[in-house]
Amino acid sequence: MADIKRVWIEEGCISCSLCQDICPEVFEVPDGEDCVIKGDAPKHFKAKDEEIRDAACDCPVEVIQYEDGAAS
Ligand code: SF4
Repeated sequence: MADIKRVWIEEGCISCSLCQDICPEVFEVPDGEDCVIKGDAPKHFKAKDEEIRDAACDCPVEVIQYEDGAAS
């Protein structure tokens, strides 16, 4: 499986905080605001690969996107 290279949030987040519960190292959901990717998130992409994929899969409005790098 290729490593995750980039994670972003498309419009439409409903601030449910699920992604933050799954992977607080990468996702942050300020009270009542849309989810943001934390500034130091990229250093966790490798270790939290599975959690990021789970969050993207489980997001109720499917706005979490990620980009896989080339498989090595
Ligand atoms: S799981 Fe999806 S809808 Fe919920 S806070 Fe995260 S990005 Fe927003």
